[in-house]
Amino acid sequence: RKKWRKVVNVLRELEEGCDTRVERLKQVVDAMAVEMHAGLASEGGSKLKMLLTFVDNLPSGTERGTYYALHLGGTNFRVLRVRLGGQQSSISDHEVEHEVERQPIPQHLMTSTSEDLFDFIASSLKEFIAKEGDGSEISSDRRELGFTFSFPVKQKSVSSGILIKWTKGFSIVNMVGRDVAACLQDALKRKGLDVRVAALVNDTVGTLALGHYHDADTVAAIIIGTGTNACYLERIDSIIKCQGLLTTSGRMVVNMEWGNFWSSHLPRTVYDIDLDAESPNPNDQGFEKMISGMYLGDIVRRVILRMSLESDMFGPIPPKLSDPFILRTPLMAAMHDDDSPDLREVARILKDIFEIPDVPLKARKIVVKVCDVVTRRAGRLAAAGIVGILKKIGRDGSGGITGGRNRSDMKMKRTVVAIEGGLYSSYTLFREYLHEALEEIMGEDIAKHVILRVTEDGSGIGTALLAASYSS
Ligand code: ADP
Repeated sequence: RKKWRKVVNVLRELEEGCDTRVERLKQVVDAMAVEMHAGLASEGGSKLKMLLTFVDNLPSGTERGTYYALHLGGTNFRVLRVRLGGQQSSISDHEVEHEVERQPIPQHLMTSTSEDLFDFIASSLKEFIAKEGDGSEISSDRRELGFTFSFPVKQKSVSSGILIKWTKGFSIVNMVGRDVAACLQDALKRKGLDVRVAALVNDTVGTLALGHYHDADTVAAIIIGTGTNACYLERIDSIIKCQGLLTTSGRMVVNMEWGNFWSSHLPRTVYDIDLDAESPNPNDQGFEKMISGMYLGDIVRRVILRMSLESDMFGPIPPKLSDPFILRTPLMAAMHDDDSPDLREVARILKDIFEIPDVPLKARKIVVKVCDVVTRRAGRLAAAGIVGILKKIGRDGSGGITGGRNRSDMKMKRTVVAIEGGLYSSYTLFREYLHEALEEIMGEDIAKHVILRVTEDGSGIGTALLAASYSS
């Protein structure tokens, strides 16, 4: 039927719009490496902020003692305690014992005042410490804490920095431009806690710290959850925008804020354009909006809405299809994963979420296909981003964009990238598309030297490790 043909046309257009052939991915790789250079060359030189972290030494495995971390990022707030090998304990070098408590961030705090938010955080820590029992071995000492804060911060030192902007749906007035660590330190004081904020750490940097602690070949860390970001170890002399930095290691971790990456080579559709225009931060976080968990479900919703508008595939247009963000990415993943012959799960979710009853099988199949196209593009673009970083540091097997060695005498070093986040760890098909694209872009011979290593709570544990490294 004519109307059905329209649905198929929408799908075909989507597929063309989401084109991620390997040639195009390679253009994205190059663009990422070029933008990294530009962001390091001058302040504001690129949409990639390439933020200095002042982390010049990653934990080595010889740290000792008990440290805390607080993690504020996307959906869950976390409090952690980490014990590192010490004489009193049986823990040896490189061993980490940790406890973690998570709770969802109350929605209203995301848009409330900074005092409310930080009081909530400080209270959570206070309760966590109170549950320690007598804690005889540590209670006499002042505690040292790392704060994982996964928003862009302009650091002034490893333990201080000002908020540049909110992302991922947070929007608290009067916070932008203020010192995040000082806000937390004040709240801790208000709660009567003798705890020092020893490190203010982006979540990617925490993940890199733990990755490096376990495996010294770890050179970068990627997070793909509600949002997405990456950091890596850079040579000081490549950070041209900041002359005269002195570090003993000659290196520093750079927080890329890659969610804001943009390039004309990114395959963009009308759905991306609309999603961006209707978001609270238009023209911002363009890469993140194509890749991360906060957005994928909503891209799918927009495509299905369009199909419904152009045909009667769901009968009269279901009003719920027009509700932004009503389809969360985990449910999108569940539809995508449905391998029952009659796609029962797809039918159930369409009914539960969009209140569309009795969707014909043909339409269910189209919905699965839409999920597939959107997730495949996301996984492949994330892969291109990773190779872009490897290219910048000469670990993509091509000799780097500044190196002139030719491929044949190039020996590819074992290269580990730490990775975490709910989208990567829980969405199997996304992960498979990412891995497949890595191999396609780099070629099997090079790709076999690149290891993606998953960490869980790595950002929080790594932050506690950094609190240990930088404790007073
Ligand atoms: P954060 O919110 O701090 O990024 P996570 O790294 O745990 O926390 O990521 C959570 C995000 O991961 C969710 O917002 C969701 O988008 C995505 N996610 C979690 N579970 C799944 C799943 N089963 N399938 C697809 N995406 C998921």
